[in-house]
Amino acid sequence: TDSTVLDDRLTRRLRDAVRGEIVQPGDRGYDEARRVYNAVHEKRPAIIVRAADAGDIKATLHFARDLGLALAVRGGSHSVPGYGTCDDGVVLDLGVMRGVRVDPERRTARAEGGCTWADVNHATHPFGLATTGGIVSSTGIGGLTTGGGMGHLARRCGLACDNLVSADLVTADGSLVMCGEDHHADLLWALRGGGGNFGVVSSFEYRLHPVAHILGGPTFYPLDGDVLRAYRQLIADTPEEFNAVLVIGLGPPLPFLPERWHGRPLCGVLTCFSGPEDEDDRVVARLGRLGPILGQHVARMPYPVINTLFDDLLPAGLFHYWKGCFSTGLPDGAIDAYVEYGADTPSIESATVVFPIDGACHRVGPEETAFAYRDADFSTALSPTLPTRARLEERIGWVRAFAAALEPYSAGGGYVNFMDADDQHRVRANYRQNYDRLVALKRHYDPGNLFRLNHNIAP
Ligand code: FAD
Repeated sequence: TDSTVLDDRLTRRLRDAVRGEIVQPGDRGYDEARRVYNAVHEKRPAIIVRAADAGDIKATLHFARDLGLALAVRGGSHSVPGYGTCDDGVVLDLGVMRGVRVDPERRTARAEGGCTWADVNHATHPFGLATTGGIVSSTGIGGLTTGGGMGHLARRCGLACDNLVSADLVTADGSLVMCGEDHHADLLWALRGGGGNFGVVSSFEYRLHPVAHILGGPTFYPLDGDVLRAYRQLIADTPEEFNAVLVIGLGPPLPFLPERWHGRPLCGVLTCFSGPEDEDDRVVARLGRLGPILGQHVARMPYPVINTLFDDLLPAGLFHYWKGCFSTGLPDGAIDAYVEYGADTPSIESATVVFPIDGACHRVGPEETAFAYRDADFSTALSPTLPTRARLEERIGWVRAFAAALEPYSAGGGYVNFMDADDQHRVRANYRQNYDRLVALKRHYDPGNLFRLNHNIAP
């Protein structure tokens, strides 16, 4: 396909204004620069700007707006619907803005808008500090935080957006707005769940928690309703320092899982216990009571390590399609659906991942942040992930049927960051009582909907 080639006269002003690299069709490195994590999205942008700072962000926003071009903002590039790229428009790539400044005394970290969780975890760990981030280290903080942000510390420390104490935001008119609890608090509220609708965050400031080493790792069990019910009870019984993400899928080829389970349906409980070490034995004993253990590797490790365990399984370049849903408790009907559809998981890379979001996530009121589902106990991501487009297309029906089977047991909306582009119509349901307030803010800060490549809150 041909790409739009912008007239040099139009781009010259932008080239003069920005310090970061600019890549256009025909330039060396264009094919590399246009690629996003989910290989489904093979787009050909007219121009890619690798912003160096907030000034570059501002110049790029003006350029896109003045020329009426589509704008895609890219942080870690993990958006499953591919919102980090577009055909014939402008890609604002934050991928070189990755500095992190830690303040061990105030227990905060300020991270530039293009950081991944690997960047943040690496910077905070030497000080024995951490915050809730994603469970794959290459995911960007930008999309994950602004959508809500679930991870291994969620029960103890809240969502990533709950730990966002301030942000520097470049809005659609090019203003740089510092938002915090006591200045532009409306925008901070919107950034805590409202996604990329309100502007481009050039830096995020997070609250940190004293978490250095954790007891973590996977325990595999047969895919069985009794095990899932025992998992449900485990979450209900354990303190918030205990977190365990439930993963349903095919046995990965790991040395501690007997070979006959490789490629066969099973479930895994991925533990992250950040409580005192002298309770480790009790945690391990409790895991032993969930069901027959097929394989286990649970050990003390630095907190950043637990967030890398999926990295090798999920490199960039695979073909993804995702669905998301919230649930209150884990009803038996949902457990039946997990067992039935989980048995038909299409590949080792595909997984159904159930994140507990109770505990500290419930201590924030439903209207305190844009993220509205404060009564949901679990947030599930369902994803066929395959090595080729054709094989993905064959299996999209599986995940649609799976999501439909869970629907009667779901709490209504679905987490925006687990939804694909065909779930745009669920955006309103996802924001519930906060939707009207988000629309009012969108009308004020982005009336022209410059930021529309996202789960869009239309002005
Ligand atoms: P991008 O594709 O770069 O951006 C996604 C959206 O966010 C775009 O609309 C973009 O405009 C906006 N955005 C990005 N950066 C900024 C910024 N600085 N300012 C304003 N807007 C911005 N989610 C969880 O909650 N927990 C998990 O553990 C988790 N694990 C995941 C693992 C994998 C392998 C993948 C693919 C996704 C995972 N997700 C998880 C979902 C993840 O939160 C979303 O895919 C998220 O959008 C990724 O953010 P990104 O910056 O990498 O994506």
